[in-house]
Amino acid sequence: MPKVLLPTPLRPYAGGSSSVEVPGATVGEALAALVERHAALERHLFDEGGRLRSFVNVYKNDEDVRYLDREATAVSPQDSLSIVPSIAGGSSPIAVDPVTLSNEEIRRYSRHLILPEVGLEGQKKLKAARVLAVGTGGLGSPLAVYLAAAGVGTIGLVDFDVVDDSNLHRQILFGTSDVGKPKLSVAVRRLKELNPNVEVVPFEERLTSENALEILRDFDVVADGTDNFPTRYLVNDACVLTGKPNVYASIFRFEGQASVFWAAKGPCYRCLYSEPPPPGLVPSCAEGGVLGILPGLLGLIQATETIKLVLGGGESLIGRLLLVDALSMRFRELKLRKNPDCVLCGPRPTVTKLIDYEAFCGIVPEPADAGVPAISVEELAAMRRRGDPFVLLDVREPHEIEICALSGSMRVPLGELTENLHRLSTADEIVVHCRSGSRSAKAVAQLKQAGFRKVRNLAGGILAWADRIDPSVPKY
Ligand SMILES: [Zn+2]
Repeated sequence: MPKVLLPTPLRPYAGGSSSVEVPGATVGEALAALVERHAALERHLFDEGGRLRSFVNVYKNDEDVRYLDREATAVSPQDSLSIVPSIAGGSSPIAVDPVTLSNEEIRRYSRHLILPEVGLEGQKKLKAARVLAVGTGGLGSPLAVYLAAAGVGTIGLVDFDVVDDSNLHRQILFGTSDVGKPKLSVAVRRLKELNPNVEVVPFEERLTSENALEILRDFDVVADGTDNFPTRYLVNDACVLTGKPNVYASIFRFEGQASVFWAAKGPCYRCLYSEPPPPGLVPSCAEGGVLGILPGLLGLIQATETIKLVLGGGESLIGRLLLVDALSMRFRELKLRKNPDCVLCGPRPTVTKLIDYEAFCGIVPEPADAGVPAISVEELAAMRRRGDPFVLLDVREPHEIEICALSGSMRVPLGELTENLHRLSTADEIVVHCRSGSRSAKAVAQLKQAGFRKVRNLAGGILAWADRIDPSVPKY
């Protein structure tokens, strides 16, 4: 007979049992048999019209029956049915017993305290909560600021970067006078100034397979604000292995995604994307750009989901992928299902410990342009001084060339190179450059494949030129 697994709050209505075996060939029949045997359960599971209450989810094994055939879903004697009430008041994992609020805190949080959904109990949960933000960049900045303002008692921050000018258009933890300083020391000061009741725990290091489980151990919720695939898979895997919820967001140009991955209650990131894209296929924000407000929007969605998890209220993004398009200002939502074959959170996992995520994401230690012949900016300057005959090919986009360009260059964006090969001669000496040297390395590889022999990459691109040859060239 199929087995029905009952959550703790429902057990008193079933004589204290945690599981009940019932006859039935469908979910509906099994639940009917269950309430026939334990009549006190009925009003908790069904409304007056006999419909399953909206805040009660039923899973057949690992699958939410809403994505199968609902109550008509077939069950076999080996199956188990889990009744999972959606996150409602009281299901928060945070223990609040020893926590008290001072009069200053009561004044500070008064607009929270008068919300019945938060109240004194909820504010104590926030104070007792321990949230880890991985990254204090575009997503982590607004996330940490709002968590501190809201009174989340302990905020862990993982970052090892220093503040750069190009961070300031979105990383609102930092100001102009912070450029060059370690991000974490600035962040701790700023958050403590905002709310001295909050404890900020800095981890000034890169999150790695060696330290991740140790760092995550003491936190209740993890918010992933990273910008690269190795760390994103590392955060996901570490959260699944330690049973923590992973509040996820990612951004690119004008678009963002957000969800909550929590293997105990729904899918994990690997259920969605079991493998990373090959290196170079998806450009980073440093290559592709990002609208400054976008990480603000997504970081606040993460902060909202984090606070809901702590309070144990509302409807979480677990099992839903929110897609945000800032250009059209449209929010769409996709259903996410737990992948029954997930290598990590499935019933037969093959990933049972943290792995080498750089290798998993195909990132090799050598620079991407290894094997491509290159020249330095100093050599290029000497060639120009001597008046050597050569073609300087700039493969950046037109809007980048508007910012800065080297005189006398031929301009063909990387994406249009193949259809413009006829403009180049294999007899010519060619030097290719871009912003940093990575797109131009790809161009050199393409040109060599097309039969060009005398072609070289400008190492470091126009950024290196600005640093070492001509400081009047603006860096972007
Ligand atoms: Zn999974």
